[in-house]
Amino acid sequence: MTEVKNTIQNRRFTYTPHLKNLLLNYSVVFFYALLLAALAHLDWGGMSSTGIIVTIIVASIIADFVSGLWHLFVDYYPLNYQLGYDKLLFFKGKRDSKEFMRLRQSILFTGSFMEQLAYHYKAHHKFPKCSHSINKNFLDTSIGSFAALFYAFFLLLAYKLDNPSGIFLLALLHAYPEYILGVLIFAALVANIELIHHCVHFPKEFPIAGRVIRFLQTFGLVYPSKTHTRHHRGDGVGFCFITGHTNFFVGYIRKFLLDRGIITEDRWHGKP
Ligand SMILES: [Zn+2]
Ligand SMILES: [Zn+2]
Repeated sequence: MTEVKNTIQNRRFTYTPHLKNLLLNYSVVFFYALLLAALAHLDWGGMSSTGIIVTIIVASIIADFVSGLWHLFVDYYPLNYQLGYDKLLFFKGKRDSKEFMRLRQSILFTGSFMEQLAYHYKAHHKFPKCSHSINKNFLDTSIGSFAALFYAFFLLLAYKLDNPSGIFLLALLHAYPEYILGVLIFAALVANIELIHHCVHFPKEFPIAGRVIRFLQTFGLVYPSKTHTRHHRGDGVGFCFITGHTNFFVGYIRKFLLDRGIITEDRWHGKP
């Protein structure tokens, strides 16, 4: 934790927490309204308590692993030098200067969604404070969480329909209450990835969430700050963004890809 704080203090820039904006973000409100509606319509009576516990464990393992795979993919996505993204990442002056802002405005939005995302991830490694905004980084995780939520709704509809036909009949084949609950837990965990990440870095900016995350960290239910500091240093660890329990497996996949030259260490650093 101290190491994370030191890293951040060395790179402190003007920054305003975005809680107000986040709460006003209608997509977040919409997401939780849909999630609660789906949970309310679940067939809770059709599940045993053991089934619910197993579902929570399995869903959190899968969400952690998928988040790690996605993080690995984005971290090793090449930086686009043709569009000048290297000029942004390796900018020598102050990153809150007008010169940098102008450069950022002229370069950043010229790239594809993945190229912009790859830049944000790499910039966040180097400059955790100035490159991290919970709103800005919400996009990639919100796509995943909304996709899972709509999928759960689709299954729920198939389950509720008395005599389904067509695609609903196909969906009914795996529309078990435990499975739908698992998809909903997956969606909820993925939706909170950026909040968890933000609180791992800056627990005081969201006092209640920060305390909850620290409490969960003591029980090993959220990845430790130390591992995340090592990730920022470029130690090639800590890709999983929720509990961190599946880091060993993602680490194995990373090594497998590195050994075969499918990815290179330079890519993580944004080098050609
Ligand atoms: Zn990373
Ligand atoms: Zn970070």
